Formats: sequence, C-alpha cells, structure tokens
Amino acid sequence: MYRTHTCGELRLEQKGQTVTLAGWVQKARKMGAMSFIDLRDRYGITQLRVDETCPEEVSKIAAGLGREYVLQATGVVEERQSKNARIPTGDIEIRLTGLKILNAAQTPPFTIEDESDGGEELRAKYRYLDLRRNPLKNALMLRHRMAHEVRNYLDDKGFLEIETPFLIKSTPEGARDFVVPSRMNPGEFYALPQSPQTFKQLLMVAGYDRYFQIVRCFRDEDLRADRQPEFTQIDCEMSFVEQEDVLNLFEGMMRHLFKSVINVDIPEKLTRMSWYDAMDNYGSDKPDIRFGMKIHEITSLVQGKGFSVFDSVEYVGAISVPGAAQYTRKQIDELTEWVKRPQVGAKGLVSIRVGADGIKSSVDKFYTSEDLAAVVEAVEAKTGDLVLVLCGAKRKAQTMLGVLRLEMGNRLGLRDPHVYAPLWVVDFPLLEWDDETQRFYAMHHPFTAPKPEHLELFYSDKKEDLERVCANAYDFVLNGTELGGGSIRIHEADVQSRMFEVLGISKEDADYKFGFIINAFKFGAPPHGGLAFGFDRVCALFGGQETIRDYIAFPKNNVGRDVMLDAPSRIDDVQMDELYLRSTAPVK
Ligand code: ASP
Repeated sequence: MYRTHTCGELRLEQKGQTVTLAGWVQKARKMGAMSFIDLRDRYGITQLRVDETCPEEVSKIAAGLGREYVLQATGVVEERQSKNARIPTGDIEIRLTGLKILNAAQTPPFTIEDESDGGEELRAKYRYLDLRRNPLKNALMLRHRMAHEVRNYLDDKGFLEIETPFLIKSTPEGARDFVVPSRMNPGEFYALPQSPQTFKQLLMVAGYDRYFQIVRCFRDEDLRADRQPEFTQIDCEMSFVEQEDVLNLFEGMMRHLFKSVINVDIPEKLTRMSWYDAMDNYGSDKPDIRFGMKIHEITSLVQGKGFSVFDSVEYVGAISVPGAAQYTRKQIDELTEWVKRPQVGAKGLVSIRVGADGIKSSVDKFYTSEDLAAVVEAVEAKTGDLVLVLCGAKRKAQTMLGVLRLEMGNRLGLRDPHVYAPLWVVDFPLLEWDDETQRFYAMHHPFTAPKPEHLELFYSDKKEDLERVCANAYDFVLNGTELGGGSIRIHEADVQSRMFEVLGISKEDADYKFGFIINAFKFGAPPHGGLAFGFDRVCALFGGQETIRDYIAFPKNNVGRDVMLDAPSRIDDVQMDELYLRSTAPVK
C-alpha cells in the first residue's frame, strides 16, 4: 500500500498513529539538527519532521531532497510546536520512521506556488507542472463540481445524456469547420462538429424528448480574446415545448448551479428583456445590468440647431455618468481619444457637465441653455453628472455607447465580479443583413424558427419585411457576457426549405448539405427547442475569472497552438500519401 492517508487529511485526532503518506516535496528546509519537509498532494500539505530520533537512513535521504521529488513517508502523527493556522493540517506533523524516494525530479522551471514566477508561455509548455498549482487545481475542481451538478439537475428533470459523433459532414454556416481527411474514402473529408445541433434535433425526431450532453465543440475561428478552438458546451434539447418552458427549466438549472457550486442565490424569476430593448437601452445584446447608466436617444432634441455633425446622422444618443462632472478637460480629452480607438470607432465625443453652477457643454455655441437642459432631463442626469453623447447610424452608435457605458462602469467600479445579475435576452431578429455579401445570415442559426405570428412576413420577398421577422430565440446573459443561447426550432420541412432559400442557399446545396434533416422533418418531427451553455465560460465566471483558459486542463494559446505538444504539426509523406493529401504550405 502506497499510503494510508492523503496529505490533506490528518488532524490532532490521529495523534500517536503511525501513518504513511505519498506526495511531492513542496519545500524542504533544515533548522539546526532538524529538518522539515512539506509534502504535497492534491488534497493538501502535511509537514514531515526529521530529527535525531529518526533512523539514520531517513536523515540521509532527507538531506538529499529537491523540490518536486516524489516521496513515500512513514511516521508518527505528533502535535506541532509552532502551529500553522493557514492550512487544515497545521496542528500536526509526522515524525518520520521511514522515507523512500519514489522518483527524483529536476528543478521545475518555475515555482509551484499560488503566485508563480513563471511567465505564461513557460507555464503553458510545462502545463502538467502548472496544474500542480492551487489556482489551477481549484479551477478544475470547480469544473468537475459544475459538471456533476449539471448532470444531477438534468437527470432529475428526466434528461438523457446521449453522445453524438465527432466525425460528421462539413456544413460551414457560422464559423469555419475543422476537417479530417478520410483514408478509406479518398478525397473526402469529415468535419468536426461546431455543435451537435442537427443531431440533437434528430434525437427529438426519434422521440427522445429531453436530451443533454456535456460536449466538445470545434470552431476554426480567428481566436479573438479568450476563445478556444475546442471548447465545451452543455447542450440541451426538448420536445413539445414553448420558449417559456425552456427558459423556466434552464433558469432553474442556473439557480441550482449558483446555489450548489458557489452558494449564491439568484432571483426566483429572471428578467426577460427583448433584444430591441437591450440594444436601445444598453447598446448590447448582452447587457450588463449590474448598474444603470442607460442609453437615451436624444436625436430629436439636438437636430435642427445648426450643428451639422448631429444633423447629418440617423441617431444621437447619450449616457449620464454619475458624479463625473468634475472630470477635467484633460480627462475628457483622454476619453475622446479612447472612443476614437478602432475598437470603439467613434468620430468624436460631445460632453455636457451638469455642475452646481450650471450646465456646460463642448457644443455651447450651437445650443441654448434650454436646449441643454432638455437633454439633461431626457437622459435623467443629476447635478454632478457628466453626459456623454455619441452619434451615427442607429445600431452602430448604440453599440459604441454600450462600449463606453461598460468602460465608465469599470472606471467607477460598478462591475464587481462577485455580484451576479443574470437575465434572458429574448425576441432576437431571425435574420441579419450583410451589406458586403448582400445576403441575409441567420442571427442564431438556420434551424431557428420564425415566431409563428411572423410566418407571413417570413414568406415575403421584401428585404424590409424579412428584417422585421423575429425569432423565439434567447440568450442567457450574465454580467455582460453571453453564457448560453438557443431557440425554438423549425420542425416543418417546408419552413426549413424556405429558411435555406432566404439565406441564399440553393435547393441543390441545401439538399446536399442538409437533406438529412429536411427529410427527417417529413417523418413526424415534434415541435422542439433547446439551447447550449458555454461550459468553460460558466465555470470561469463562477470562479470570478475572466479567462476560460485556466478552467481547461490543456488549452490552446491565442494562435490555436498547444505549446506543450507543439501541435499542430506537419505529418510525414507516408501519412500524407495515405490520405491523398499534398501540402501547398511553404516549408518552414
Ligand atoms: N447549437 C447552438 C449553439 O451552439 C445552441 C442551440 O441553439 O442550442 O450556439
């Protein structure tokens, strides 16, 4: 037997017992005739003591230990002289009677401490050493707990966990597919699933009624901040449901997760905010509702007064920043530069100070004090506030105001990661027009159903009509982040065909790529709907972290590489030949 106890387990109650532990050397230090070894495993740290009462062999081995050596240590549990209240085993130590090196270790390239001295790249290369550190261990433990509680909740609600294939057919619509060449089918490729979307719908056609899966998904996207090419979803689908059934069940799941994983209570019934209200009031389809500072449209109040910048645009909007009237000229100039950065994209910024001594703006020469007072009233600014105004095409200007609002929320400390403000955003438009390609794209995905009351509009030939079609689509949003989303699906073959037509996918192309699902809908598909949560992100947010990387045991870096494996990599010519492949990439 390698051990009788773990390194996190022993207390004063076991005083006098002879025990055997196994683990890694966190630290070994000599103090006069005695030496101490901190032995670490997944469960904690236990102090080992070597003194003159120990066998000579033990002292000899103890003198030659290095960090991260793997040991088996036997000894007697004793009360410590100087206790360590910071660790649960801090009242005891083990006076050694036997010590064995199970494996020596090279000195690790960085310290295995909560705050490591290793840079990101180095720690990624030695991920298995980084994973020995507490912050990562705690992250993976939280992830495990979360998965377990998801299964508990959904099992309790009658969901079946069913696996779906990873080698499927390429149907790029949203992101790019990762593809896998087939040796047995020369010249043909599988794709890795971007999500199990069509399979879960087929499971509904097959009558499985309530499905879920904690499943890996693959998307070959340019990795914007904090995305991973492979990530995990809690993927779910239900039959014979309407939108409210889905929302109620899954806000129940989130409530259960909040309570069971981090002991946080969220409201009994979450806000349902329409996409239009979210855009108009928060300039975002994932509003952070931990704070107010809502966006107000002031177009009609500021046009026609001779200020050509405002006169020439579709929309003028403003936010009122509480208590920021004392911003100096310099601070406002800095903020103006900030909104002009490409990430925000504004041309300029107009500000109105609501001071105790009156209202002053950067555009005083165009507006009377009554004009400005009307704006101040419209945006609900109070004395001491600073009103910030941006303009442009409606949705673009709102989005810029939304970004500015978040920035001001950050600057004012209104975005505490330990305050949780979840909500549903609902009633998304079904379609999104893209000027560049001159076609519609599905805002969620091509299987999302138009609202029944918009079905007639959906069959219209006019672009304006199609732009007005709404979907029973919904996103679960937490603190300005989309954690999940889904929709009620199309379940009729002719509506699905119409959808492909609207998306500019020819009948032949639709049949080639999606014939299986259009066909399945001809064999008695039940009304159904579902959603998927980004599992990595749920874990990160519950852990109070912004990045998902620490919640994935072996993540990729920001150019999609696994620096530990050094993947992706070239394959040899034999393998290439077997797969009927030729590379046109330049040789590195
Ligand atoms: N499959 C969708 C996604 O990955 C979620 C859903 O509609 O259920 O975004």
